[in-house]
Amino acid sequence: AESAAAALLDGLNPQQREAVVHEGAPLLIVAGAGSGKTAVLTKRIAYLLAARSVTPGQVLAITFTNKAAAEMRERVIELVGPRARNMWVSTFHSSCVRILRMQAALLPGLTSNFSIYDADDSRRLLTMISKDLEIDTKKFTARLLATSISNLKNELIGPEQAVTDAESETTEMPRLVAKVYTQYQRRLRAANAMDFDDLIGETVALLQNFPQVAEYYRRRFRHVLVDEYQDTNHAQYVLIREISGASAATGGDPVEREPNGPAPAELCVVGDADQSIYAFRGATIRNIEEFERDYPDARTILLEQNYRSTQHILSAANSLISRNAGRREKRLWTDSGDGDLITGYVADNEHDEASFVAREIDKLVDDGETKFSDVAVFYRTNNSSRALEEIFIRLGLPYKVVGGVRFYERKEVRDAVAYLRVIDNPEDTVSLRRILNTPRRGIGDRAEACVAVHSEQRGISFSAALRDAGEGRVPLLNTRSERAIASFLELMDGIRSVGTLADGFFDVGEVVEAILDRTGYRADLEASSDPQDGARLDNLNELVSVAREFSSEARNALGQEEIEAAIADSAPPAIESGEPDATEGEPDPGSLAAFLERVSLVADTDQIPDNGDGVVTMMTLHTAKGLEFPVVFVTGWEDGQFPHMRALGDPNELSEERRLAYVGITRARRRLYLSRAVVRSAWGQPIANPESRFLQEIPGELIDWRRLDPGASFGGGRSSGGYSQGGGAGRDWSRRERPGWQSESFGSSRTSIPAAKSRNTMGLVLDVGDRVSHDKYGLGSVIASDGVGTRATVTIDFGTAGKVRLMLIGGVPMVKL
Ligand code: ATP
Ligand code: MG
Repeated sequence: AESAAAALLDGLNPQQREAVVHEGAPLLIVAGAGSGKTAVLTKRIAYLLAARSVTPGQVLAITFTNKAAAEMRERVIELVGPRARNMWVSTFHSSCVRILRMQAALLPGLTSNFSIYDADDSRRLLTMISKDLEIDTKKFTARLLATSISNLKNELIGPEQAVTDAESETTEMPRLVAKVYTQYQRRLRAANAMDFDDLIGETVALLQNFPQVAEYYRRRFRHVLVDEYQDTNHAQYVLIREISGASAATGGDPVEREPNGPAPAELCVVGDADQSIYAFRGATIRNIEEFERDYPDARTILLEQNYRSTQHILSAANSLISRNAGRREKRLWTDSGDGDLITGYVADNEHDEASFVAREIDKLVDDGETKFSDVAVFYRTNNSSRALEEIFIRLGLPYKVVGGVRFYERKEVRDAVAYLRVIDNPEDTVSLRRILNTPRRGIGDRAEACVAVHSEQRGISFSAALRDAGEGRVPLLNTRSERAIASFLELMDGIRSVGTLADGFFDVGEVVEAILDRTGYRADLEASSDPQDGARLDNLNELVSVAREFSSEARNALGQEEIEAAIADSAPPAIESGEPDATEGEPDPGSLAAFLERVSLVADTDQIPDNGDGVVTMMTLHTAKGLEFPVVFVTGWEDGQFPHMRALGDPNELSEERRLAYVGITRARRRLYLSRAVVRSAWGQPIANPESRFLQEIPGELIDWRRLDPGASFGGGRSSGGYSQGGGAGRDWSRRERPGWQSESFGSSRTSIPAAKSRNTMGLVLDVGDRVSHDKYGLGSVIASDGVGTRATVTIDFGTAGKVRLMLIGGVPMVKL
């Protein structure tokens, strides 16, 4: 075992090694991108288990995304074996949900099956409240109220304190927010629900208000490790402080400790102040910059060797980020050589930019050194994916967009999930009111209002009031509505009894099926002639598959667990408060609650394809944090786009945008492309943006500009663009023969997977009026066609590039649109 532990240190540099073996005082690892922070954190966990007789149950590791958590766990299992399987490696939110579900008995008004409200649910609730309080929703939108309340929660300011604080304010806003906040919390609790911010805040409150609970977790988690520490907000910071029991010299009340309580846990946080990009969510660099002040005995380790990128890429990143004021100077270096120059490209517009990206990727893959899965394309805002998608689809390049409108945010999916939530948690008012008359069943707004008033007057929940209505005990309600409500309640009771299979297992898919069939939701969509409804149907079918898959996974995992229970060293240590069970706080595997939890905590980043998928990944710069790709395209380097318009006049925001640029550049391992468009459409208008000021902050000699002056080459086709040099008719098109694509309707992850044939090297069939895209001449339309078979020709009008007559045999560098 000793040599196995020593082997864990192989290949680490001295600073990394020190970080892995460090014992005792809080440890801060601050280091630039790609210096191995995440790798060190992972190795440290493995080392704790292998060399310091720490058990998996004693480790709490926090990552920024579920995906990162899964990867870290897998890696530790690889290093030390399957006993690490049930270790708590998760996001802040997931860990907090587990703790809260375990301790639900201590939470006033909540039961362990509480619902988790996402942004949309919160806004719905706020809209209901605004209506009741007669708030001017033009001036105080639900979104604005939600942000204000979220900011308060991130600072751990409760409704009562918000009310007190607002008294001394002169403006209307804080008072109004405090009033809404009070109502909002009251109604969340009445619905047996929490929003995302509550998950953190309520866990902090739990640890602070119940010393015995705090002590339990402090005894239990002897090692607390946090990745991406620069993006924690105040609430998360306090959470770490409370759960580790580590003393803080400043920054609020010192942690209360039981007289004979456990010694503080060993704390290890890693981060890079230069990569703090979530200030808008309340993240504060202060947490990392003042770690040493808060923990006077802390040890700080710097890592400066970068193992990810080539020197040219690092130099660009170093130079750019050095323009930020007030930062700790650090210089990343690598011994992997200069590498290629960065490629720059100035496009006419976003379509030209997208086309450059697509064709360049195509070329890299054709050249044989790059796989599609090696490539990532980043942009500043989600809407920029459209132009890219269009051309990728047209050229038949496989890709996946991470983010955008998520699968679980689609209306029909939300409706179905709302049914599931009401089945699991009947008090969930927002979900209940969402489905009350969806699909329409004759319970109108007036009936709903009567029930709401009845619930207010009687001081009972909306669902209890609904029961009263079904039994004719709500005043002013007509008999038709009463009947409709009674049959709705009957319907729900019926669905509640569904799902348990003959073998005793529960299948969430069965429940979803029952909902879609018995409510008439599916039949309505099937009867509709609206093509959108077809897509909705596809999404719901997808939800059924997701649910079925979830249940069968859970079933298989149960079998697996029995096998692993036999592995001797998996036994957790006995501690005073009982055996810690690694799965405590988790809902029963395969249960409806477990499914809903998975659905609620799903994030954009969870949709990042695995390398085996063989697709190009497209995502926003924010989503790219922590990842790395051999080839990276960062698009949209225009003032007003990147840096974002909002940031142009604000030095703090500008610094944050610069950090985002730094994050983007440092994702690249060997090839980096930076592009900008002279003109880009925004709000349906073409806007000419100047070059991004960030580009000027990168030394000119590091960038090889393929195309500097778009004006000069305009009208001359694309031939002056570097990418098209290899794209002429002489190209070996047979190698490009790639099947067509098929776009899944699923999700935050629109995936285009090659399926049918779209490139036809044996010649295209074209009719007059067809639109085409030619690799050399661009977009055009067929104005004449002549001859047949091998003699077939067409004449195409390519606009500014002129009219061209082309033969249609033997590999045409052109696709029909
Ligand atoms: P970021 O700031 O982007 O999150 P990071 O500091 O967490 O980056 P890692 O992702 O841990 O960096 O490491 C970057 C790359 O360098 C990874 O591919 C990792 O495997 C590799 N790496 C880290 N340390 C070493 C080492 N000592 N020897 C070889 N490769 C290493
Ligand atoms: Mg990292």
